[in-house]
Amino acid sequence: MARLRVAAHIHSAFSDDCDWPLDRICRTLRRQGYHGALVCEHDRGMTADSWERIREECARLSQSGFLVVPGIEYQDPTHTIHVPVYGPAPFLGSSPTVQDVLSHARAHAAIGVLAHPRRRDAYQVLTTDDLRLASGIEVWNRKYDGIRPNDWAFEQASTHGLIAFTALDFHGPRQFFPLSMDVRVEGEPTVSNVVSAIAAGAVAPTVLGAALEHALTGTFGTTARWAESTRARMAPGVRRLEAAVSNTRQRVPRLKR
Ligand SMILES: [Zn+2]
Ligand SMILES: [Zn+2]
Repeated sequence: MARLRVAAHIHSAFSDDCDWPLDRICRTLRRQGYHGALVCEHDRGMTADSWERIREECARLSQSGFLVVPGIEYQDPTHTIHVPVYGPAPFLGSSPTVQDVLSHARAHAAIGVLAHPRRRDAYQVLTTDDLRLASGIEVWNRKYDGIRPNDWAFEQASTHGLIAFTALDFHGPRQFFPLSMDVRVEGEPTVSNVVSAIAAGAVAPTVLGAALEHALTGTFGTTARWAESTRARMAPGVRRLEAAVSNTRQRVPRLKR
């Protein structure tokens, strides 16, 4: 069995709001101790052809041993709810309904995830059917949740048996943060085996290399909760803490392959 530390929700220059080429992101993540990435390019502006090019680039980069799973972040017709779909399912078109994306993901053995429920108060419009049909939910999105996870999303993950995802939502260096998904893969660590392992729940969200549930009960959890809740007033202090947490990632022990 291989254990892989994977960075979830990665945008690259294939998205219209990121200018980092995918190969540069992968090289950087690899230096940070990750073994792979779950790519998540916006559906807006995507075509069947560009999706094919993204899949080819992911396959090419994966040959180096750093696994790159192709994925698309769909936005619903009101642009309120975002749904990353990881795995090589066909492109469904721009701005489909949440139910259509999640059904499409399930039909193609891909992983449909409810992203950053805090953004635009998406959590208020997510339905019970959405939560039932999804495979996972982001409990900690670096871009929207900052340096602490989202309690509401955690609750939904446990109520609906969803895979809890940590996600960088990478658009630029500010989103580098020691969050990962640690995947246990039976057999060869190929893209399709990694997708199947995540879909089967053989995965755990981590922060600083520790399982999220343990990390949150310790000092880090207390500090992060305090810091995020006072973020507005204490912005410089939070930035110092973020810098300290980011520097710590160099000391996180690497997982054995
Ligand atoms: Zn999004
Ligand atoms: Zn995103």
